[in-house]
Amino acid sequence: MHSVATPVRSLTSAASDPVPSRYAVNVGDIEVLVISDGILPLPTVTMAHNAKPADLSNWLEYMYMPPDQYDWPLNVMVVRSGEQTILVDAGLGVQFPDFPRAGQLPQRLAAAGIALSSLTDVVITHMHMDHVGGLLVDGVKGQLNPELRIHVSSKELAFWRDPDFSRVSMPEAVPPVLRSTAKRFAEEYSDFIRPFDGDTHQVAPGVVARVTGGHTPGHCVVDLKSGEERLSFLGDAVFPVAFDHPEWFNGFEHDPETAARVRLDLFRELAANGSLMVATHLPFPSVGHVAVDGDAFRWVPVIWDF
Ligand SMILES: [Zn+2]
Repeated sequence: MHSVATPVRSLTSAASDPVPSRYAVNVGDIEVLVISDGILPLPTVTMAHNAKPADLSNWLEYMYMPPDQYDWPLNVMVVRSGEQTILVDAGLGVQFPDFPRAGQLPQRLAAAGIALSSLTDVVITHMHMDHVGGLLVDGVKGQLNPELRIHVSSKELAFWRDPDFSRVSMPEAVPPVLRSTAKRFAEEYSDFIRPFDGDTHQVAPGVVARVTGGHTPGHCVVDLKSGEERLSFLGDAVFPVAFDHPEWFNGFEHDPETAARVRLDLFRELAANGSLMVATHLPFPSVGHVAVDGDAFRWVPVIWDF
């Protein structure tokens, strides 16, 4: 007789979620779950504020995207390595009322059978609200393990004490919320935050945070390696438009020239070593490879493994 496993997901949550919000992939011995925090609408100009308007509108049309506003996917990742369960970024939360379709992380972690209390570590790629906001949702902090370690680069924490917004290009209402959310996160989680110095920081066996800068001065990616298998979570170093136009500046980049250079370096690196990648704002589940041909890059999504 075969035993039948009890489904983790209840019928109620399955019925209320018409599309999947989690995708599992193994990287050697490391277990990875990509979880969608939802999507948020943004003006299209924020994806390319140094592009000629005609070039951007041509690209949007070519991509079957609407001219003025587009939906920005938002993904986080849960990583199990050894005894550790690591959340990489925390989604949007509910800081900003204009984004009701994102900020789903607490429910979706629960639906995936991951209790907040089971997390041993959180890695924050950077302190924008769509990456820390989920930790500020009412009731979340109280469910976390009091021993939880939140890894943030020292550079990132220092930047948000007096952030420079002179090079960004965002809707007017956004910068004040980014400032207040980062400040609130640093204050409310000061007992949990483990700042790290240097360019790389090992979080768990085969799990390393690597500071790239660019998007924000302390922005990091998270590299997973087990045996010969690799996956990098690229945070906000890469957006969907970047495969066609890596040189276009995203409005959320605090140092756009460095951000563009980081993006190209990561593309070349991942194309050379064959690593899988996941990025916060690529369409869910955003698991795939980078293909390169000279200076042209292409996104190659994996075929879903059921
Ligand atoms: Zn982001």
